[in-house]
Amino acid sequence: MEFNLYRVTQPGGNILERDLIQAIGFAHVRDNVDAINISAGNDHSDDGNGGCARRSQPCKVQEAAGKAVKDGIPVIAAAGNSDQYSSVCCPSLNSHTISVGGFVPKCGFKPDFVSSAQDSQVRPPHAIWDLEDGDCPPICSGKDCYPGVDASCKNNREIVNWSGNVDPVWNKPDILAPCAYPNGGSVLWGTSWSAPFITAWVVETMIGVRDRGKEPPAYVFRQALENTAKKLDSGEELLLDEWDALRYVHSELDLPRPNKGSKERFDAGSGVQF
Ligand SMILES: [Zn+2]
Repeated sequence: MEFNLYRVTQPGGNILERDLIQAIGFAHVRDNVDAINISAGNDHSDDGNGGCARRSQPCKVQEAAGKAVKDGIPVIAAAGNSDQYSSVCCPSLNSHTISVGGFVPKCGFKPDFVSSAQDSQVRPPHAIWDLEDGDCPPICSGKDCYPGVDASCKNNREIVNWSGNVDPVWNKPDILAPCAYPNGGSVLWGTSWSAPFITAWVVETMIGVRDRGKEPPAYVFRQALENTAKKLDSGEELLLDEWDALRYVHSELDLPRPNKGSKERFDAGSGVQF
């Protein structure tokens, strides 16, 4: 697998419209990539203040993203974070783009069989524990590191709403994915981290479908996520179910149902299971 990286953020964090258009254009036309991940979770601007709120003309960034999807390249974009922007960001606003918000997969393991003094020794080794910040729950790494007999952390895993999600716009975001990223002793939060989860799912699914002799149309990925997402406590159907989504793609393309228990590529622990 090959990665092309395009930097669109100015020093200071500002994202200019022309840089985003150029990056999407490079990825789409010059480099002809298989999928585009946009982790820039800030709305863009053309003069430092404008953004894409001008209703008088269609946003060129959304247009560029839409064109890439039309040419068969799925575009997956961070929906944004509430401390940076109040509602879903462009270009994840484009109806063909997969807009990704965040959730927290919490590790609910409670070592109640040992004294609290020993807690730190029996914590799941791969879970992310941020002991400094009371607001941060222990995060499930999805690596089955529960120190039990069956070595499974499934029973301890809880899905927690993430308070940093931006206000929804129309039907956006399309899907939520884990939004925490461990960085040294602390945890970074944001949809910059959740978008690549979905991109990984898209690319893994794409590779598997191609291995079976078919070329998946770009729209099928967003459609699959939209039709298989599970309900949150709040009632919205936004929670990623990567297996159901994969089955949906296979069924749409008349491919045999993927077998979760098999050792095929899809089951290789792609990093999108949690
Ligand atoms: Zn825009």
